[in-house]
Amino acid sequence: MDFHIPPRAAALVGRIRAFVREELHPLEPELAQGWGALLPYLDEKRRTVKALGLWAPWLETEWGGLGLSLVEFACVAEELGRSPFAHYCFNCQAPDVGNMEVLARHGTPEQKERFLAPLAKGDIRSCFSMTEPGRAGSNPTWLDSRAVREGETYVVTGRKWFTSSAEGAAFAIVMAVTNPEEKPHLRASMIIVPTDTKGFVHARKIPVMGEPGSGWASHSEIAYESCRVPVTNRLGAEGAGFAIAQERLGPGRIHHCMRWIGVCERAFDLLCARAASRELAPGELLAGKDTIQAWVAELRAEIDAARLLVLRAASRIDEKGQADARDDVSIIKFFVANVLQKTLDRAIQVHGALGVSDDTPLAWWYRHERGARIYDGPDEVHKASLGKRILKAYGVK
Ligand SMILES: Cc1cc2nc3c(=O)[nH]c(=O)nc-3n(C[C@H](O)[C@H](O)[C@H](O)COP(=O)(O)OP(=O)(O)OC[C@H]3O[C@@H](n4cnc5c(N)ncnc54)[C@H](O)[C@@H]3O)c2cc1C
Repeated sequence: MDFHIPPRAAALVGRIRAFVREELHPLEPELAQGWGALLPYLDEKRRTVKALGLWAPWLETEWGGLGLSLVEFACVAEELGRSPFAHYCFNCQAPDVGNMEVLARHGTPEQKERFLAPLAKGDIRSCFSMTEPGRAGSNPTWLDSRAVREGETYVVTGRKWFTSSAEGAAFAIVMAVTNPEEKPHLRASMIIVPTDTKGFVHARKIPVMGEPGSGWASHSEIAYESCRVPVTNRLGAEGAGFAIAQERLGPGRIHHCMRWIGVCERAFDLLCARAASRELAPGELLAGKDTIQAWVAELRAEIDAARLLVLRAASRIDEKGQADARDDVSIIKFFVANVLQKTLDRAIQVHGALGVSDDTPLAWWYRHERGARIYDGPDEVHKASLGKRILKAYGVK
């Protein structure tokens, strides 16, 4: 494996790091006001990013992006991860990225024109509705929601929750069962439901760790009450929803993991700066304590290890495809999420009471990134499937 940052990414990394530091870090003290209050500033930054030619680096050039490979984008995503706002300002935010990928790969020309083009420009937002309150999300083949065909129309009925960014979204991609008689992984389809469809009911916003959230930075419960959409709103073949969701998750996990490494690097910076400036008594720095020195050393090793693992997974996907990178992707999903949690926890601890205040971005990240060990496959699911695959080689059935 090549340990150098690819030249195209290297040229971007410095520019993006400077932009994030100069334009986005100063907005952080306003984070406690909520996403909605910041939106006018963030939209202005989006216009600047476009003018600088840095828009949507992961997206194909035909849709206005920079067409980076997964490894190249991974390097960029780390830089973006250093600010809670950067992925949004560069149109790299979940769940829109995943939805754009699905539309680019499986959309019909009409679907691309109507949904992908405005999403790629940043004119609209979208959401992804799979998880249901009444069913274990860790088993995505077991869904209650139904899409029943009536002529050229699907009637979508069901209840979803943790539909991130639904508030203000123009459409949802909904996973619903169209073929109940099929094997579990062939039962569901992905169907585009515009949020102004009759029967799309925004039931409530779900507060996370006490924070109600707003706009893109929110999670919602949605009732689909007999939403009627044309059959032409289906993505891919009938019953292909699970396969498309799996395909969406590989690159999606690389994006999340590299963003988390950016969060870790920023938290690590803050930790070191605080330890190097906080005096416990005149002339006695916090950084002089053995415990802090050991934490700094351990975190440095773990964050670097995490990065190398993610780049290995990304380069394997770029070179050999997702099937070959299955183990690598499982490894990074649980490993990096745990390094993230540990890094944020220690950075908060070093800051003392300041760490749990909203005067640094650490508490915001701590609240919002706890979900990293749950979404896109909880830790335990990835560990179990990786462990089974490894042990299979030893004859364990
Ligand atoms: C911040 C956040 C954002 C999200 N955004 C979206 C979104 O935009 N769209 C969407 O559709 N969903 C979204 N989700 C939902 C997410 O996909 C589910 O939470 C996830 O799939 C787990 O499902 P569950 O919550 O039903 O937990 P369950 O399936 O009930 O699992 C609960 C726990 O049981 C344990 N467990 C589960 N399976 C096993 C196993 N095989 N072996 C051992 N232990 C196991 C794990 O510890 C797991 O955390 C989001 C969730 C969070 C937290």
